[in-house]
Amino acid sequence: TPAERIRNFCIIAHIDHGKSTLADRMLQLTGSVEDRVMRAQYLDKMDLERERGITIKSQAVRMPWHVNEEDFILNMIDTPGHVDFSYEVSRSLAACEGAVLLVDAAQGIEAQTLANLYLAIENDLEIIPVLNKIDLPAADPERYAEEIAGLIGGDPEDVLRVSGKTGMGVEALLDRIVDRIPAPKGDRDASARAMIFDSVYDTYRGVVTYVRVVDGEIRAGEKIQMISTGANHELLELGVSSPEPKKAKGLAVGEVGYLITGVKDVRQSKVGDTVTNATKPATEGLPGYVEPKPMVFSGLYPIEAGDYTDLREALDKLKLEDAALNYEPETSVALGFGFRVGFLGLLHLEIITERLSREFDLDIITTAPSVTYDAVTEDGVTHHVTNPSEFPEGKISEVREPIVRASILVPKEYIGKVMELCESRRGSLISMEYLSEERVELRYTLPLGEIVFDFFDQLKSRTQGYASLDYEPIGDQADDLVKVDILLQGEKVDAFSAIVHRDSAYSYGTMMAERLRKLIPRQQFEVPIQAAIGARIIARETIRAIRKDVLAKCYGGDISRKRKLLEKQKEGKKRMKMVGRVEVPQKAFIAALSGD
Ligand code: GDP
Ligand code: MG
Repeated sequence: TPAERIRNFCIIAHIDHGKSTLADRMLQLTGSVEDRVMRAQYLDKMDLERERGITIKSQAVRMPWHVNEEDFILNMIDTPGHVDFSYEVSRSLAACEGAVLLVDAAQGIEAQTLANLYLAIENDLEIIPVLNKIDLPAADPERYAEEIAGLIGGDPEDVLRVSGKTGMGVEALLDRIVDRIPAPKGDRDASARAMIFDSVYDTYRGVVTYVRVVDGEIRAGEKIQMISTGANHELLELGVSSPEPKKAKGLAVGEVGYLITGVKDVRQSKVGDTVTNATKPATEGLPGYVEPKPMVFSGLYPIEAGDYTDLREALDKLKLEDAALNYEPETSVALGFGFRVGFLGLLHLEIITERLSREFDLDIITTAPSVTYDAVTEDGVTHHVTNPSEFPEGKISEVREPIVRASILVPKEYIGKVMELCESRRGSLISMEYLSEERVELRYTLPLGEIVFDFFDQLKSRTQGYASLDYEPIGDQADDLVKVDILLQGEKVDAFSAIVHRDSAYSYGTMMAERLRKLIPRQQFEVPIQAAIGARIIARETIRAIRKDVLAKCYGGDISRKRKLLEKQKEGKKRMKMVGRVEVPQKAFIAALSGD
């Protein structure tokens, strides 16, 4: 298809504003999916995605559309809808010339929409504003059309009104996509340059790489090259998703399709990388490529020590399909053998732990999520700390932590509460802007370490669920950060060490010491629980001693009962961890870590 007849677009929407439903209607109206095989949310393939109604992996689909006596090809590129995957969002946007800004006509704009809209504007995309769900009795299109026009300019009357559910207005939207979104531009005669905007692992086909061709052409059967690594691959198959995979002879300027090279690991075909012809390679990659960088780290431990090998195998498998997942073995006094795992964010962490339990049937415990700190020791050496227990000892001249720019949208009555929360989390206000008479966007810089620590839950509860949050990393900053250790009878319990601001050290220390006092059973001797910064004790709790002699109770009783008791004790011991002389049931550690 000549580039003049191609339109590449994505849909920007907040979760639940109806992106998947609208995509379904487009598939039907363009005849891409027959009515008899149509099912709701046709493109959301992963079970987890369906259940939680979130899109984790983006997808591309090619649809024909006939308007003004001409045939066009519309490529719809689905973007993941969560902050954790903002890099993937930015790459999918970079593959398009336009974006449909889809807003629920009963809800208005949310932080996620806004963050992605800013990204789209930065990428120079043509924005088509659309209000969805106009069939709802609660829909207030007039009001939200004003809000949108206020934000992106233009006439409120120009905002399209549709219902993905009933199909109303969807044809007009397809026509407008053809009309308003520019055709792709590129150099047909240059060496091929195609951007990878998604890379998906498929058990049967290996890694399926989705690309958008910018210059030149990729032809079936030729060899291709990845620009970031210079690695050459055989091209086993090339095609388009319409939406089922369909082989093609080539992909030319502006086209969107998939490549299969037989590689087994998504790391060999990374989002953001440029694909070129191996025989006549382009010298320069397309702009914007970055290595996926884990932002949040947590220790993952099997609850049954015997599951360690299974856990490693499961992580190895997940890694094949997730280039952002990183891990290495680690051991903990409290939890035994496990892994330190790097994630893009909290949702990513949740998705992985949930998949481990569902798909691999593993019971695991995760330590409190932490970010990466750079600790500079007096000798000028920088230590990259992803596990608080590895924080360097001795004098530290500086500690730096990752900072994000957060955007929070709230109804105006909650401004005070949100500001209070952000300030208690070391945030500083950048700006406050009214999107409409009722709704405000607050922009803050905040340490990421404060956000991974129940910020989202706090925000939701303080605003009765009305606030929405989005953030992007903007660099590192130094602050007065210290490591707090928790000691049981003078022995450090590594899984509880945390890096916190000096002002919060005491409250973290007392909270943990108290939790452990309640959870650890009494011993034959008194057990002090202390919180410390270096050698300095900042909080203390005590577990009082008991004289525990279970056998005394059945003195003179029958011998089999005694034996049973002894065996029961032995059984219990297996699940005990020794911290110095103190016996702690693993349950207690797990409960203390999960906060219940
Ligand atoms: P996504 O999270 O943006 O992909 O949203 P979905 O397409 O999954 O839709 C979220 C919810 O809104 C679902 O319960 C849909 O049935 C519902 N929904 C989507 N579009 C419409 C619409 O046009 N009208 C109404 N009444 N409900 C809709
Ligand atoms: Mg969806």
